[in-house]
Amino acid sequence: MTPGSRDARSDGASFDVVIVGAGFAGLYQLHRLRDLGFSVRVFEAGGGVGGTWYWNRYPGARCDIESVDYSYSFSPELEQEWTWTERYAAQPEILSYLEHVADRFDLRRDIQFDTRIASAHFDEATGRWALETEAGESVSATYCVMATGCLSSTKVPEVPGVDAFAGPTFHTGRWPHEPVDFTGQRVGVIGTGSSAIQSIPHIARQAESVVIFQRTPNFSVPAWNHPLDPEYVAEVKASYPERRELCRQSQAGFPITGEPGTAREASEEERAEQFGEKWQEGGLRFLGAFADLLIDPEANDAASEFLRSKIRERVEDPEVAALLSPSAYPCGTKRLCVDIGYYETFNRDNVTLVDIRSAPIEEITKTGVVTAAATYEFDTLVFATGFDAMTGALSSIDIVGTGGRSLKEKWQEGPRSYLGLAVAEFPNLFLITGPGSPSVLSNMVVSIEQHVDWITDCLVHLRTADLGRIEATEEAEEEWVTLVAAVADFTLFPRANSWYIGANVEGKPRVFMPYIGGVNTYRAQCDEIAANDYAGFSLGA
Ligand SMILES: Cc1cc2nc3c(=O)[nH]c(=O)nc-3n(C[C@H](O)[C@H](O)[C@H](O)COP(=O)(O)OP(=O)(O)OC[C@H]3O[C@@H](n4cnc5c(N)ncnc54)[C@H](O)[C@@H]3O)c2cc1C
Repeated sequence: MTPGSRDARSDGASFDVVIVGAGFAGLYQLHRLRDLGFSVRVFEAGGGVGGTWYWNRYPGARCDIESVDYSYSFSPELEQEWTWTERYAAQPEILSYLEHVADRFDLRRDIQFDTRIASAHFDEATGRWALETEAGESVSATYCVMATGCLSSTKVPEVPGVDAFAGPTFHTGRWPHEPVDFTGQRVGVIGTGSSAIQSIPHIARQAESVVIFQRTPNFSVPAWNHPLDPEYVAEVKASYPERRELCRQSQAGFPITGEPGTAREASEEERAEQFGEKWQEGGLRFLGAFADLLIDPEANDAASEFLRSKIRERVEDPEVAALLSPSAYPCGTKRLCVDIGYYETFNRDNVTLVDIRSAPIEEITKTGVVTAAATYEFDTLVFATGFDAMTGALSSIDIVGTGGRSLKEKWQEGPRSYLGLAVAEFPNLFLITGPGSPSVLSNMVVSIEQHVDWITDCLVHLRTADLGRIEATEEAEEEWVTLVAAVADFTLFPRANSWYIGANVEGKPRVFMPYIGGVNTYRAQCDEIAANDYAGFSLGA
């Protein structure tokens, strides 16, 4: 039996810590806590490690933070022995990396795969969490760490007949393990977010025809992806300690040196030059062109117009280019996408763009998709409709705290947390990259490592002080929620109907979920709170 295989059941067992999820977050949390002598068990719904990179196997799936930075920093040995091959690694390479990490640090023996946690109830009498799996196993733990992922709960189109289609349907976030062959197929793709932008060029190269249903166009910048030059890799490896520190001390978790000026103070020519340079650098760095891009509407208009001009250059048909050009929100306030040949794909004869803003999808039928304007027949459907972001995975577990109230009920009007790490009424429960932390607005690996380290230090502190309970206070939570909203209101982010705000899920409350204060500021705030005897938390035996 492989250690950590699905046979390693733990019914009735008790642990110091139960971790839910075995992606970047769960793996590192297990490593840290086990090394410090805590008894730990990880439960993972998937059949292997990797989280996002286990599930999202669609063609073209890649990271959009450069690989050398989208990786763990906790082990200098790991940093030196792993060699990334591309500027933006593709899913198989990232999954191999995480599998390597699991093997190298012997993590699998404490992970139970194919096991979904259905409920977690805090037992006032024992001061412990009682968890139950979907299969009915129960375990208990003093502490529970939710490493369930910000983008792990998939969302299907909210239209009638979503299950009616007779041919194969695929969700980008639950892609089969074997490659899907689209040769000779008439394919319909619903959605034009990041996963669609990455997968459509691949699907279009194979399929007989592809029809793309777009409700809201996204801004996208080229990745200019390329194999990594060995000399560059050697340079990065030699300078990792400084590079990682730059990431930790940056706004978004990637290494940017120098302070950009403001677009407001720049002349037309200086703006054009700076946008052009950033465009050539490629990827998310574009948003670093000016310091005020996400704050000042005029600065943002200039950047948005620059990006639209690039769409017009890349797409031959002006009508299609116009449809692909976002105009209803400031660039960067919905996640900026990073593409390899997305816009050029619309110059192909076998690709059609359908605007479902003006003529919405009315129904999915046995044979295709019916919009208010036309009927389309397909052999295969692809749902690139994203995720119930940030709260979806947590809300689908029945988590019940001290007052008998579930987390889902508590968050009915929008998520409330202290630091995105803890929730009042839910003692000894920790969230990794929860709502209210920088999370999805950052290089997630940097944010994950920071949360894991903070939680680990906290548990060591409690153990050393002979304490066994920690809970965020209502007052600290209220103050934090207010701060998160105030910082967001200072920016242009709330102007977009994005998944940051829950707008992609019908009925989800519109609350801006991530903290935009920056990973540097946020880290300092978390450290100060810990140094200040965990200010805002009540600690007990
Ligand atoms: C296609 C794609 C590309 C991305 N690219 C980037 C990028 O370039 N840079 C970046 O910073 N971020 C990126 N992200 C965000 C990405 O999710 C994070 O970077 C990171 O992988 C999150 O790790 P995690 O461990 O927190 O969560 P995940 O990797 O999502 O892992 C969570 C795990 O928890 C499991 N789980 C959830 N609920 C339960 C339950 N009830 N019981 C048992 N198991 C459960 C899930 O099965 C999953 O395996 C991307 C996301 C996607 C979808």
